[in-house]
Amino acid sequence: MRRLVPCALLLVAFLCLIASCTRRSPLKSDDPAPSPAPQRTQYTIAATLRAEEKTLSVESEILYACPIDELAAVKLRLYANAYAEGNVVVTEDKVAATYPGGKISTGGAEILEATADGQSAPYDLGQGGTLMTLRLPRKYKRGETIRLTVTERVTLANCRHRLGYADGYYFLSDFYPVLCPFREGKYLSYDYTPYGDPFLQETADFALDLTLPLGCECAASSPAERREKQGSAERLSYTLKGARDFAAVCSEKLRYTEDSSAGFPVRYYYENDPKKADTLARVVKAVTEYASLFGEYPYPAYTVVAAPFFEAGVEHSGLSVLSSALSVAERGEVILHETAHQWWFGKVGSDGYRDAWMDEGLAEYTVALSYKRAGATAAYRAKLRAAEDAFSVRYAIKGAEGARFDRTLTEMADGYYDRVYSGGLLLFASLAAKVGEDALISALRAYATEYAGAVATPEDLIRSLSDSLGEDLSSFFTARLSCALPID
Ligand SMILES: [Zn+2]
Repeated sequence: MRRLVPCALLLVAFLCLIASCTRRSPLKSDDPAPSPAPQRTQYTIAATLRAEEKTLSVESEILYACPIDELAAVKLRLYANAYAEGNVVVTEDKVAATYPGGKISTGGAEILEATADGQSAPYDLGQGGTLMTLRLPRKYKRGETIRLTVTERVTLANCRHRLGYADGYYFLSDFYPVLCPFREGKYLSYDYTPYGDPFLQETADFALDLTLPLGCECAASSPAERREKQGSAERLSYTLKGARDFAAVCSEKLRYTEDSSAGFPVRYYYENDPKKADTLARVVKAVTEYASLFGEYPYPAYTVVAAPFFEAGVEHSGLSVLSSALSVAERGEVILHETAHQWWFGKVGSDGYRDAWMDEGLAEYTVALSYKRAGATAAYRAKLRAAEDAFSVRYAIKGAEGARFDRTLTEMADGYYDRVYSGGLLLFASLAAKVGEDALISALRAYATEYAGAVATPEDLIRSLSDSLGEDLSSFFTARLSCALPID
């Protein structure tokens, strides 16, 4: 996210399982035969947007490998209910940018049916309706495949947020149930905070059939593999493996331009951009440069869409959303930041709630590095100076405890931007000054390779960089994260 403020047999069986579940209607799974456990969770989703009702009907099938013995219930996030009455998705200062006319609008998910292995499954909703605890028909053993289905009717709020509609656009992320990560014997379920990205997203394989009104163009986490007209609607079929999420932005107003010089399709969707070729070239340059610095881009395609979004931008696997309200200069920086997230979020996951400094700090450092390597010395210095100013002011007013950024989003609250983005950038910039820029780039490339597809902890990052750089960096990180030493 970027704020708008300046700123062999089993393998065959596994492949058969994938082939069978990607083409099956999610709720027609009456095959009782036990399946081998999939290596990654598989989401097979059929969603239909009803534009006149501003609703999305969603049928999801989830194939999930049981994480422990004796599992009796599974926890899923229903982020669509973050938009339900009584919940808050933005801070007060963002209401005008998020809701057309500044009028708060609500939405939510109505659960029509939930099943586990073909049997109706009882469930409870908690955390403002965003946490679904679904009881299983029996206790499962570790490694067994659990087949879950959830049928929902999602009402979209009138907002320019992750999920909603506004200005002729539909923002479709987090519209399907998401399995909670399982750590140390229990499911994690963080508060849905109105700031930052309060998610820890593990990689999964996605197959989505999205039915849209005819004439709606759709920027998504991957290009559509098939498009099929159905009366006044069109069904678009997608697959994406090893992704943190699957998201789309749809509108009749969108068109796109494409370039394949990076070795894979790079698309730019826009409504009105007289410099669309320049914008696309910036996206291609960013993705090409980052691949050369940090290793292979993790998805088969990359798409950027300019849309009336409430923040400057947000990242999804294979897709970045940019606010269409940005100036040319702002857009250039947001492209650099969100594209960096394809490595620091997409390729290497981290806990966006507990360790937000990891992907935001690395994304901001990557932007600064890109300026420096392009010879844009003034932009590089200005970026570092802005971070130093923001962080030092916070440190002066709030002290070390109010500036340290090894804290959760809830603990940092509205101070998270200066702490996580500015503090994170300064941390990696001072590390580059300490060990050398080229050495740090090599170490980050090794880290990205080692943790590709995984979720890295701060300890993983520190250990990996220490190994690569031949120096124990534990005390360096601890001192700076906790502000025991001012960041220079
Ligand atoms: Zn970000």
